Amino acid sequence: MYKRTTKQIRLGNLYIGSAYPVTIQSMTNTKTSDFEATYSQVKQLADAGCEIVRLAVPNIEAAKIFTYLKEKGITIPLVADIHFDHKIAIASAEAGADKIRINPGNIGDSDKVKKVVDICKIKNIPIRVGVNSGSLEKSKIDKFGHVTAQGLAESALENVRLLEKFDFENIVVAIKSSDVPTMIAANEVLAEFCDYPIHLGVTEAGTMSRGIIKSAVGIGSLLTRGIGNTIRVSLTADPVNEVVAAKRILEYSGIRESNGVEVVSCPTCGRTNIDLISMCDEFDKRSVSEITYKGKIKVAIMGCAVNGPGEAKEADIGIAGGIGEALLFKKGEIICKVPEEKAIDFLIDEINKM
Ligand code: SF4
Repeated sequence: MYKRTTKQIRLGNLYIGSAYPVTIQSMTNTKTSDFEATYSQVKQLADAGCEIVRLAVPNIEAAKIFTYLKEKGITIPLVADIHFDHKIAIASAEAGADKIRINPGNIGDSDKVKKVVDICKIKNIPIRVGVNSGSLEKSKIDKFGHVTAQGLAESALENVRLLEKFDFENIVVAIKSSDVPTMIAANEVLAEFCDYPIHLGVTEAGTMSRGIIKSAVGIGSLLTRGIGNTIRVSLTADPVNEVVAAKRILEYSGIRESNGVEVVSCPTCGRTNIDLISMCDEFDKRSVSEITYKGKIKVAIMGCAVNGPGEAKEADIGIAGGIGEALLFKKGEIICKVPEEKAIDFLIDEINKM
């Protein structure tokens, strides 16, 4: 698959750029000043497969979180999310942040931006220039009439040029919009006019049901065309869900191979005689903690025995519903019959025996 060529940026113990895999980011939603709660959430995110964690740093005191987390043994790269106050960015870099995210447009005059650049040079950490549709500067809105992809891209590129003016190229760029076509178009312009790694995300995407679809369309569309080096799915939900969704977007875009459980399930129809929807939900929930098998496996959960095993021929293992019972099959061959209410127990047991 084509991948846009970019500069490579080091971020703690990993790299972002075209020579490296696309990474998954999320953001804590604990009060950063509550160090213990934040530590616990950073660990949860890392355990779920998150590779970079961003933390909002609203004041100087909160910047100490980076020292605290490093002393507690956190090794996942940590990003300080800064708005308005360059002094908080400096304090975060000094406290051990692995990357600073600023919107230079709201940091104030260029002297203040230069101070952030200076500390990032000393610490050898990158800056992510983040431009959002909600905070696009007035001059760009006036120029283009409203928030447009062109205005967002122009703002991001001007901010990049400002950092370059200070001899700084350790940059990741992000343009986010809650409007998916705008986000896609703005990133296309960005990809054409700079060779820095791009952080992709649809901002304020919404709840799980809406936000995952918006993110999949926006992020997935760009990834499949080789644009994007690190992604964040924004959801109004527990951030662990963002990591799960991001993993799936990478997998379904063909960017990363799944090395866990892939589930195929039928949409149900007039032939379905079991509560397949509940069974699938139960499997989804229990598989996270109960499946000990470590290999890659395709599991099918199908509504009927007439077409189920046939429709799920490529699955390694699965169940197909009968009337009040389910048939367990492996590689398309039925191996036994189990009561409906025990079907998921049997399925998980069989997977763990593989
Ligand atoms: Fe219908 Fe059976 Fe196909 Fe499911 S597997 S959609 S129940 S025919």
